[in-house]
Amino acid sequence: MSTTRDYYEILGVSKESTEAEIKKEYRKLAMKYHPDKNKEPGAEEKFKEISEAYAVLSDTEKREQYDRFGHAGIDSRYSQEDIFRNADFRGFEDLGDILGSIFGGGFGGFGGGFGGQQQRRGPVRGSDLRYDLNITLEQAAQGVETTINVPRAEICDTCSGTGAKPGTSPKTCTNCHGTGQVTHARDTPFGRFMSTSTCNVCRGTGEIIEEPCPACRGTGKQKKVRKISVKVPKGADTGLRLKISGEGEQGSPGAPPGDLYVVLHVEPHRMFERAGDDILYELPLTFTQAALGADVMVPTLHGNVKMNVKPGTQTHSILRLKGKGMPYLHGRGQGDQLVRVVVRTPTNLTEEQKNLLRKLDLPEESGKSKNPKGGKGIFDKVKEAFDT
Ligand SMILES: [Zn+2]
Ligand SMILES: [Zn+2]
Repeated sequence: MSTTRDYYEILGVSKESTEAEIKKEYRKLAMKYHPDKNKEPGAEEKFKEISEAYAVLSDTEKREQYDRFGHAGIDSRYSQEDIFRNADFRGFEDLGDILGSIFGGGFGGFGGGFGGQQQRRGPVRGSDLRYDLNITLEQAAQGVETTINVPRAEICDTCSGTGAKPGTSPKTCTNCHGTGQVTHARDTPFGRFMSTSTCNVCRGTGEIIEEPCPACRGTGKQKKVRKISVKVPKGADTGLRLKISGEGEQGSPGAPPGDLYVVLHVEPHRMFERAGDDILYELPLTFTQAALGADVMVPTLHGNVKMNVKPGTQTHSILRLKGKGMPYLHGRGQGDQLVRVVVRTPTNLTEEQKNLLRKLDLPEESGKSKNPKGGKGIFDKVKEAFDT
């Protein structure tokens, strides 16, 4: 059954259209009506129709025949059915291109004879890599520039990544004819389904290596350790990912490499604990310092700082050192250091010290204690500690 509609009309072009214009319109329509893309009823018929029209109008000789004699001028072998069998038909090269663009370059032989040209397999981008980097809290506070050794697969020097022993060359895979993909047709009660999968003989490379490169055992890749400089910003915290573009695994020839992600882990600190942008520090105070007040030196991430402890400071009270915490990762400024006072109860007292303490053990109301709820003062606690 041959289409009797006007070929120019089918493609929406005029009789004066150039070859390029016809090709452009055809590509547009073929993309729209390709049966693998368009599941609407009639789409397949439409696709066959435009393919037939293009098959004729893209061929100078056939187009001339058609212009002079209409449908009668076209050889009957260019009927719809033949178009899908005729491998040497020039329209198929273009169709192959179109199928390639629909299926991302991975579409191989269609119906056994489409295109005939070697399919271009899209270059494969290299994988991303992850590197876990431990840093100290000081390094996180000040920022640090360090060098890390990243093992990664690089293109083999010996075979330039082909995987074949130098002097030999890989053979085209006969299973997929070098396309790396095979198309399966499956007939079901609903019609014929085409599916494409990676060739299992060459694993999608399209090539069979008969003599593998001894340096990389045919993989085309070699493990190498690369030194990469990493700049850790001030205020970095555990879990922060630093992206280093292009330092991941190498891609296939012509493809970009992957990225390297450095994931930070801030090690626990022997003195400081981090709480977001603030730093927690526990300050041991003697019984006397807490009771009488004192100026004490407190370590911070930014050096020692003199801090005044007011007389009568309770254990577990929190004093704030403004701006002595972690720098903000984003924006200027920094968090605070929170100093938690821990009063150490004296032990191994002499009899004389004990007597002094007994004299200090004043009732709440006469002392300076600000203990809430009128409960036991710090001296009571000391006393209790001795009693047990
Ligand atoms: Zn090699
Ligand atoms: Zn293959």
